[in-house]
Amino acid sequence: MQTRKWMKTCRCCLLSLLAFPLMSFTVVIDAGHGGHDAGAIGKMGVKEKDLNLAVAKQLGSKISAQYPNVKVVLTRETDVFLPLQQRADIANKNHADLFISIHTNAAENRNACGAETFILGTERMEDNLDVAMRENAVMKLEEDQTVYQGFDPNSVESYILFELMQNQYMDNSLVFAELVQEQFVGTLQRANRGVRQAAFWVLLKSACPSVLVEMGFISNAAEEKWLASTEGKKGIVNGIFDAFEKYYKR
Ligand SMILES: [Zn+2]
Repeated sequence: MQTRKWMKTCRCCLLSLLAFPLMSFTVVIDAGHGGHDAGAIGKMGVKEKDLNLAVAKQLGSKISAQYPNVKVVLTRETDVFLPLQQRADIANKNHADLFISIHTNAAENRNACGAETFILGTERMEDNLDVAMRENAVMKLEEDQTVYQGFDPNSVESYILFELMQNQYMDNSLVFAELVQEQFVGTLQRANRGVRQAAFWVLLKSACPSVLVEMGFISNAAEEKWLASTEGKKGIVNGIFDAFEKYYKR
């Protein structure tokens, strides 16, 4: 009797597994900005939010096509505004194994160029405060800022919060960040700004290994052109995909 009961249960499990293949890994891809927040805007009029979305969507499709067992979640699939905290909430609600936030850089210096990949951290935090402040400042465009509990993205003092944190995901974040940066520098031959640490709210609040990729400078004429081109985006998608593949297969 016992055996028959077990067999019955087992058959049920098997059937449900066949119906819903086991999703062993979840990657959340976050296209920065959106809606009334365009992000950085280039001289040609290219908007960061559009580049980020195009790359995020293509990357998501490529991972889904090649790895059907990987659950791919995009924080946004259209041109909509999404609060910063909500992006991290999406990662946490889906129990993400990896969070990739896609952004495009900008600087006063029009010659600034190259790719950099950020992980959460406080090493040389002051050096990267400008980029963190710019990306975190998005929260100022949100209606309800109570979720940030008094954190002011434009105040240096607020960043003490990051010095108090414990980052248990740092090792794996670093592994993935280095794989991404390798692609930008090796395959894509972009100027190497390196893997850096900075105080990004989305990374702080995502409970998993996470990186924020700054694909290139929209404020640099040549780089804006490259980022806007089909080949440029395809190259970035392939590069981040290869990095994902290496990380996933470890
Ligand atoms: Zn951005």
